Amino acid sequence: MGKLDLRLPPGVKDILPEEIPGWHYLEDVVRELALLYRFHEIRTPILEKALLFKRGVGETTDIVLKEMYVFKDRGGRELALRPEGTAPIVRAYVEHGLHTRPQPLKLYYLGPMFRHDRPQMGRSRQFHQFGAEIFGAPGPLADAEIIAFLSAFLSRAGVRDWELELNSVGCPECRPRLLAALQDYFRAHLTELCPDCRQRLERNPLRVLDCKEAVCQEVVQRAPTPMDYLCSRCQSHFAAVQEELRGMELPFRINPRLVRGLDYYTGTAFEVLSSSLGAQNALGGGGRYDYLVQECGGPPTPGVGFAVGLERVLLALSKQPDCPFPTGEKRQGVFVVAPDEEGRREQARWVRRLRSAGVPSDRDYVAERGLRAQLRQADRMGARWALILGSEELAQGKVRLRDLEKGEQFDLPVERVIDWLKTEATGGKE
Ligand code: AMP
Repeated sequence: MGKLDLRLPPGVKDILPEEIPGWHYLEDVVRELALLYRFHEIRTPILEKALLFKRGVGETTDIVLKEMYVFKDRGGRELALRPEGTAPIVRAYVEHGLHTRPQPLKLYYLGPMFRHDRPQMGRSRQFHQFGAEIFGAPGPLADAEIIAFLSAFLSRAGVRDWELELNSVGCPECRPRLLAALQDYFRAHLTELCPDCRQRLERNPLRVLDCKEAVCQEVVQRAPTPMDYLCSRCQSHFAAVQEELRGMELPFRINPRLVRGLDYYTGTAFEVLSSSLGAQNALGGGGRYDYLVQECGGPPTPGVGFAVGLERVLLALSKQPDCPFPTGEKRQGVFVVAPDEEGRREQARWVRRLRSAGVPSDRDYVAERGLRAQLRQADRMGARWALILGSEELAQGKVRLRDLEKGEQFDLPVERVIDWLKTEATGGKE
């Protein structure tokens, strides 16, 4: 690239062809389970007004204060690359009057998110989330359903060794007392907090509970927790969620210090953690947000949802000995080889017939290369089979097939070849 350095900026990555099988695998799992659990896909733009996230996620959150990509477009509008998926879906819910459709409305999304955080293993500036939301269902059964959907996704994807942590962060009725208690406690221990938490203490004391700094951990261990301050409605809701999870045989652990990095959560909050991921061990999280729709200009509508980071799920899977998707290139399809004039006359027709029959196929694009050069090309292109249209075999109503993986070859009658390859190409599943 000469003197110009046109390489990608830090924290964003290309997904190269050999990594695609993992992505397709996860995307297929998402679609299959969404169908089973009756969630409908929604796709919203990557660009939104920055105000949506300031309002929705919260002005004082790290995401909005430090991590959001915000810029002015050519019309002077303040826009943001979406840092998360829930606020945009709530915006779409309000904007399109989705509350007038039969409720509860169950939606899911899949796509890139952007946060200007310090890149490290498991953390990048563009990453992908799969998330789901249920609107219009205030009861604990909806919380349980969303958690069931998330855990079905992880199980069906084949992730091992993950754990569900659960908490309740209270509602507008009980939270003021909790925040006051936290502020009192942390003010008394101000000098023992990290500089970030000294600021958080005033703006968002709940977040101090979640600080990863070793100094804060000590103080946090003895701090009041949301659980101590829940109102009776939050208490019984939380108890019912647990009851339902037990009924579904979904193991969980209560973590009284679990809070989420977004302001909109009320009541149930949860996270799924993987033991194989090191420092960035959260695979996903979510919770209830009963005031966000109203906050974004819609009618009072309860909501509950989750988001999982797909890069982290892929990372966890790729570390497992039984990784469920191919991590290297797999030989696939047919390369139609024409060693002579007669074969060349037939070549295009064979490629077309194979493709029409659903067999992935290709050919050499360099005219009139010899048999050996074409076979080498078939090998380099990663074909599983070379179908050789030799004039001698064609005269006998046959073609030659070479298995490029095993290095064996044999002849098959012309009329049987396509069916035979079709069965092989689909693994005999048709
Ligand atoms: P959050 O809603 O912030 O908890 O994000 C939900 C999930 O998205 C996390 O548990 C991660 O799996 C993933 N995630 C969040 N931020 C990043 C990031 N910067 N890079 C990669 N994955 C991320």
